Amino acid sequence: VSIRKKLIILFLAIGWLPTLVVGALAYVSIGNELTAKTVEQIDAIATRQESRIRSSLQQKKEEHIRVVVGSEVPIALENYLTARTSQNAQALRDLLFERKAESSQLETIYITDQSGNVIASTAGDQVQKLDPQDITVNPDETSTATIREDADRIDKLFITSRVQPANGGAYMALGVYKLNDIVATLQDYTGLGATGETILAVKDKDDRAVSLLPMRFDTEAKLTTKLSGLHMFAANQPPNYTGTDYRGHEVIVVSHPVSGTDWAVATKIDSSEALAPIIGFRNFIVIIFVLTAVMILLIALYFTRYFTAPITALTEKTKAIMLGDFTQRIQVKASGEIGTLAETFNQMTDKLSESYQALEQKVRERTKDLEAAQIKLQESVKQDEALLASIGDGVIATDQAGYIIWINKVAEEMLKLGDTQVIGRKYDTLWHLEGQKGEQLKQEEQPIYQAITSGRAIHNSDYDYVRKDEAGKELVRFAVALTVAPVVLNGKLIGTVHVFRDVTHERQVDRMKTEFISLASHQLRTPLSAIRWFTEMLLSGDAGELSPEQNDFAHNIYDSADRMIELVNSLLNISRIESGRIIVDPKPTDLTQLVNGVVNDLKAKTEEKKQTLIVSVHKDLPKVNLDPRLIGQVYMNFLTNAIKYTPKGGEISVFVSRKGEELVSQITDNGYGIPKEQHGRVFQKFFRAENIVKVETDGTGLGLYLVKAIIESSGGRVWFESEEGKGTTFWFTLPMSGMKAKEGEVTLDA
Ligand code: ADP
Repeated sequence: VSIRKKLIILFLAIGWLPTLVVGALAYVSIGNELTAKTVEQIDAIATRQESRIRSSLQQKKEEHIRVVVGSEVPIALENYLTARTSQNAQALRDLLFERKAESSQLETIYITDQSGNVIASTAGDQVQKLDPQDITVNPDETSTATIREDADRIDKLFITSRVQPANGGAYMALGVYKLNDIVATLQDYTGLGATGETILAVKDKDDRAVSLLPMRFDTEAKLTTKLSGLHMFAANQPPNYTGTDYRGHEVIVVSHPVSGTDWAVATKIDSSEALAPIIGFRNFIVIIFVLTAVMILLIALYFTRYFTAPITALTEKTKAIMLGDFTQRIQVKASGEIGTLAETFNQMTDKLSESYQALEQKVRERTKDLEAAQIKLQESVKQDEALLASIGDGVIATDQAGYIIWINKVAEEMLKLGDTQVIGRKYDTLWHLEGQKGEQLKQEEQPIYQAITSGRAIHNSDYDYVRKDEAGKELVRFAVALTVAPVVLNGKLIGTVHVFRDVTHERQVDRMKTEFISLASHQLRTPLSAIRWFTEMLLSGDAGELSPEQNDFAHNIYDSADRMIELVNSLLNISRIESGRIIVDPKPTDLTQLVNGVVNDLKAKTEEKKQTLIVSVHKDLPKVNLDPRLIGQVYMNFLTNAIKYTPKGGEISVFVSRKGEELVSQITDNGYGIPKEQHGRVFQKFFRAENIVKVETDGTGLGLYLVKAIIESSGGRVWFESEEGKGTTFWFTLPMSGMKAKEGEVTLDA
């Protein structure tokens, strides 16, 4: 609601409220006063009417007693009863006519017995019997008056009394009187205006008021029960004297009982007539009200414009300023607060305009900076893209769910993706990793899975990348060297980056190398064995006694041949392991037996070096499904090293136990140890530590490499701790579930 409307409502409220209160109070009090006056007036009329009716009734009753029951009628009746002659009957009848003539109001007289049989009357012979009900007299009264219709259908007053002749018996005398005077009384409407009247009513057997005579507005109505709204016989007259009459009009009413009867009179007048002056007054107030409203409205309209015009102007200007028009100013016409407001507004607009301009300048500068920065950013993005695109390896990036979000040209070419839609697809729906013989990878073998779960970059070059078409036909297959790295932003994994290269050629070369070594070793072994064998024969004197010098040379030849055989064997074993041709044939193996067997084979060596060798295999260890030949080789290598690289009198121990789902073996010595700086190379091919080369010339540096290859291909781990001059401990684990069988081609050579 606008200020103007609010102000107008305020004006109206201020102007109207007093008029409303005064008008309402005056209306109510005048109304009450008027009602009281009316009640007083009609009360007086009701009282007058009641006394008139009462006296008229009284008069008639007295007359009845005097005329009908007086001394003569009982005597005539007695005579007739004594001798029922027609003469006596005539005498009685004559007396009745005589009496009737005395009263102007009396119309008919009947003398009856208790049962209503007419003994004599002035009505002629046709009326022989009256209704006994019509001739009952209340026991405590001498006479009873009722109003009812006579045979001529005109309301009459019936007064009944007892007649007692001297010779006994009870008889009744009924006089039918005219009602003219009572009707005239009721029809006197003096002081009752156009709607007032007095009603005479009797209480019927249900305590309801019923009209005894026709009424002003219902001349036909008789004994109607529509008078209950007037509360004529109510125990407590309502204090406000209002009621509803037989026409349903609201009336002011006062009623009085007619004493000596069960009748009552009610004088009433329509409220609308009685209170007519107040209606006029009310209309007058309404007119005043409307007039004041119009006046107030006009004044309010004029004055509110004075207040709201500057506000409206201000609002409009503010809107314009809001849209950026800072030239807006308010014409200062008024003085006082509104003038100050306008002035302040103008000042504020000046200030606003200034700061807006400054701001715009700043925004322009910033925008320029931003544009420059954006260009730089775009360039750097392009540079990054160019860099990424020109990586010689295949690169793809996926989001954390594995959907491809970026791929470079090289990758597309390597995978022969052509026009295939790649971005947005899950990368393993396009191509996947397989083993070299088509083996499917388990989830935990997938480099992407390992990278995401470990949070580290995973390198792998054991598998092939394979892309098939929808029908399952192989489109691309190549040996892949792959690095999958998780991409972490603000500590949250957002995806992975895969960098890969086709290593089909390298793998081929590797295979050829292995094959060559295998072949060469194989070919070398036969002549070497022959050399050793023949030297052995020489040494045993098969070719005659050797001179000490010859013996010495032959020994040297024997040892060298032996070492070469050992080297060739090692190379052969490695090539077998690497080419994956080795047979794995696991069977339930008792570890105690296995280790003790190896230790037994080495007994000569430990005794020679006076070393102590302690073996401890956990006694509750169950048999484990292992290839005893391969694992025996592992123990053999570790223990040979420990013996070799521990000085005379040293101590060596082997512990085998179970830890969870792993079988853990520990081989400890207190020998030369491995220099710290060379720890990283221990499991590399041909590695021999510096400190050892000086002490022990015998060795190929292939033993640990082989051991590691066997253990890891069996699902185990190997590690060590060593301190130079103090000793070395190697540990390795194997799964308690055992090794998996493999149908290879060759076994290891001892
Ligand atoms: P080799 O024993 O034929 O030299 P290995 O592969 O078995 O070859 O061992 C590689 C090298 O690791 C050894 O030359 C030696 O320097 C070091 N090494 C292995 N085991 C031990 C050990 N128990 N104590 C000290 N050095 C060891």
